[in-house]
Amino acid sequence: MYKTIEDEVLKKTAPAELKAEFIQHEFERLHRFCLLIYVASITVWMMFDLIVSFIGGQSFTWLSFLFLGVLSTVATVLLFTRKARHFHVLNLMFVFTITLGLRLVIDGLPADFQPAWLVLAASSTLYGASVLPLSRWSFYGAQIITWLMLNPFYKAPFALLELRGVMTMAYTVFLCALTVYSFLTLRKAKLYNYIMSKLLLEQAYIDTLTEIPNRRSFMTQAGKQLQSAPREHDHYLAMIDIDNFKKVNDVYGHDIGDEVLKRIAADIKGVMADFEYARLGGEEFAIYLAGVRRDDVAALAGELCRVVRERVTQHPVTISIGLAQVADDDTLNQALVRADEALYASKHTGKDRFTFYQ
Ligand code: GH3
Ligand code: MG
Ligand code: MG
Repeated sequence: MYKTIEDEVLKKTAPAELKAEFIQHEFERLHRFCLLIYVASITVWMMFDLIVSFIGGQSFTWLSFLFLGVLSTVATVLLFTRKARHFHVLNLMFVFTITLGLRLVIDGLPADFQPAWLVLAASSTLYGASVLPLSRWSFYGAQIITWLMLNPFYKAPFALLELRGVMTMAYTVFLCALTVYSFLTLRKAKLYNYIMSKLLLEQAYIDTLTEIPNRRSFMTQAGKQLQSAPREHDHYLAMIDIDNFKKVNDVYGHDIGDEVLKRIAADIKGVMADFEYARLGGEEFAIYLAGVRRDDVAALAGELCRVVRERVTQHPVTISIGLAQVADDDTLNQALVRADEALYASKHTGKDRFTFYQ
């Protein structure tokens, strides 16, 4: 089952909005991780700067404070960044600053050491970038900045075609390919996982026949509203049942019965768009009306009965509604029982009407 759905998902290419939604979702989930990578990078840079300054005799200057200031500012901005697209730009600033800082530290090393340390610094930076939730252009941007700033052939004491030159070049190409490949592969796998979980969640919370929320969704959403405090106005619960629905099935067949169910769901969606509604199962629906007055509830319930009754169709039906006020200390089930009793009263006083729980 899971495999079949997965194959279906893998066959399709994700639309642009879904990709954008995924990128934002991923950034939100990994926000703290991004901060951690920034703080760790700054700490490591600081450590090497201190080593080169004191053991390497390069001396600790105002430049180190300047870099520390700029890097910390970018990290602080990240703390307050909420949009993935802002992070993609911010990360380029961070990569630019830290690679420039690394370049200056490495410049203080003996010339012979420099190419190898430039490659080490570039690999750490690119590894960091490849695990961050970046867009493709931002990741490629980070690659370009890194190799411009930490180019191991800049001032290298060897030529490209010498042994050290060839080895450095080969490693550079390998590193580029490895980080680009892992970035793209991980991104694709994460995108498909996101699409899969979104699809499965939708299927778990939407009724397949009527395409409105199902009981599971209703119990969660209405339960959340029930607990929300403080309350503005009252909360009401409505239970709806189609009148003489068995007859519709018996006379016209089950398929027409299904069409009627879809139509009623659409009517409920139309009239109750501002509230939580769902198909609880069979031909029963429920609505949670939060922040309403009794008069509003009566008007809405009357309107829904009228819309269903007056719809021009070959298979007309009516509905009965039971309404119960939800007290502050009620559970959802207690309220459902009372609404069901009110529904029973509607059925026994002639159907095609609404009744408040007495
Ligand atoms: P009442 O006015 O008292 O509600 O009478 P009723 O005939 O509607 O009785 P009841 O509510 O007990 O009927 C439920 C019927 O709904 C029985 C079942 O065949 C039908 N039903 C339940 N789920 C579905 C469904 O998914 N599709 C169709 N076509 N019918 C369904
Ligand atoms: Mg019923
Ligand atoms: Mg019925």
